[in-house]
Amino acid sequence: MQIAKHRVVSIEYTLTDDEGTVLDTSRGREPLVYLHGVGQMIPGLETALTDKAAGDALEVRVAPADAYGERDDGLVQKASRDQLKGVDEIEVGMQFQAQGPQGRQIVTVVAVEGDEITLDANHPLAGVPLNFAVEVVGVRAATAQELQHGHIHGPHGHDH
Ligand code: ZN
Repeated sequence: MQIAKHRVVSIEYTLTDDEGTVLDTSRGREPLVYLHGVGQMIPGLETALTDKAAGDALEVRVAPADAYGERDDGLVQKASRDQLKGVDEIEVGMQFQAQGPQGRQIVTVVAVEGDEITLDANHPLAGVPLNFAVEVVGVRAATAQELQHGHIHGPHGHDH
């Protein structure tokens, strides 16, 4: 069975940046399972996986525009220390979950100068070309109930 819209796809993957640093991998964990064609996967990878089948391996380089987007300097903002209540020590590199206009987003501390904190709400992988080594582990049709819910059930999926 080939990968197409509304198929449930299992993949093993390793994600590296252009320097070869591993950013994420499914190795040593369970394969990633997702519903194809509904926007759960980054667009560039989803396009590359379309029509592939179990056993296929591929290497894909995804440009930022087809992954987490380009960096937006407008998302870098200053805050004062008392706007970050409940955080005792603020250090460069710290990340917070914040509620943004598009849901949860990760905010990274990029500078600390006295009472002034500079926060970057760009996705940590914005502007970064992504290199995926992917192996398709399984492809099956989604059930009517999975399509209705918009997520998969069973092993590695929703359990309810
Ligand atoms: Zn469900």
